[in-house]
Amino acid sequence: MQKLTFLTCIGTRPEIIKMAPVHKALQSLGHRALVIHTGQHEAIAHELYRFFDMPPDIVIDLQRKSSSLAHLTAALSDGLEAAMQNLQPDIILVQGDTTSAFIGALIGYYHNVPVAHVEAGLRTHQRDPFPEEKNRELIGRLARWHFPPTEQASSNLLAERIPAERIFEVGNTVIDAALWTRERLQRRTSESRQAIPAAARAFLGDYPHHQLILVTAHRRENWGEPIRQIARAVGTLLSEHPDTIALWPVHPNPDVRQDVEDAFRQMPQPVRDRICLTAPLEYPALIEVLARCHFTLTDSGGIQEEASAFAKPVLIARNSTERQELVDAGGARLVGTDAEQILLHAGRLLNDEISYRNMQVEHSPFGDGKSAQRIAAILSSTACGVLVDA
Ligand code: UDP
Repeated sequence: MQKLTFLTCIGTRPEIIKMAPVHKALQSLGHRALVIHTGQHEAIAHELYRFFDMPPDIVIDLQRKSSSLAHLTAALSDGLEAAMQNLQPDIILVQGDTTSAFIGALIGYYHNVPVAHVEAGLRTHQRDPFPEEKNRELIGRLARWHFPPTEQASSNLLAERIPAERIFEVGNTVIDAALWTRERLQRRTSESRQAIPAAARAFLGDYPHHQLILVTAHRRENWGEPIRQIARAVGTLLSEHPDTIALWPVHPNPDVRQDVEDAFRQMPQPVRDRICLTAPLEYPALIEVLARCHFTLTDSGGIQEEASAFAKPVLIARNSTERQELVDAGGARLVGTDAEQILLHAGRLLNDEISYRNMQVEHSPFGDGKSAQRIAAILSSTACGVLVDA
């Protein structure tokens, strides 16, 4: 088998998490796996790279002068172009739908380097999520290998006339990472204890028998009133259910923080005592909390998938989802951000054991933990033919 050089372009936390298993699988087949980090989510990224033992080979300092997407696109193009010339990869790997992933695919196209797209084919068929929906659609036009996680994602690609022989349905590597992390935490109990920050650990220690709800909200379309509604719903839920606590890693955006904290301040003290607002958790801590929670109320895509690997019900605080598979399998409900709706569905999970059990999926529709091995094997066995054609 020919040994190849793969270059993975990464911009955000979920990309690190979802590409780490692929990186390891490629290395274990003897390939050279390089990583380029485009400098977003800096503080969180460093810790994650360390956790997965995947130090980036190049870090691009984007020198952002404005927050506009046009500027980001231009800065990423310049940075990735220079890195491409230095590293001379055989194949570029991109994941998901960030602007980094899109520009990575575009630079691959400019240099005639074939692109593999991990977690391909997710669609809402709406403008939102913006700009992610367009990014993933455009990557679909550029990639040579498409690795959709599910049948639904595969059929989205086929509907866009992507040739069937380029589509490989492999599951989602997020499940590989979640199972690997939980297993590692179970083996290394001291690491598991330390994963959760001290204040959150003390909070959980104070309520060992309460039912824990993990809450997260970060999507741009939920900023402002939707997040205030989510916070109000959580406050009311806890006041109606004294045996319940909530842990909410709050997104670092100052407006999001402000909205959550304002809603929190208006709650009566006994309810406030049972909510722990923390900074975003490091990934192992997030996995530890998710594995321990009763259910999660979230707008995060990754958390929906991870929750399914641990059979935890998910209430999706969005109006649309590109992960309908879990809704269809019964493991998630699209509850939107209206406080009344959230209360209705969350109340059902807390009051009715049968409703709760019905939402515990036996198998995750997103994968079995072996997606990265499949991706590495497919790339290894098909790359030669593709490189000859390129
Ligand atoms: N995550 C984390 N700490 C947190 C919240 C999320 O490590 O406080 C992880 C989570 O486990 C998942 C990923 O970040 O793997 C999801 O990222 P995010 O919710 O930011 O984006 P999305 O999945 O919606 O694109």
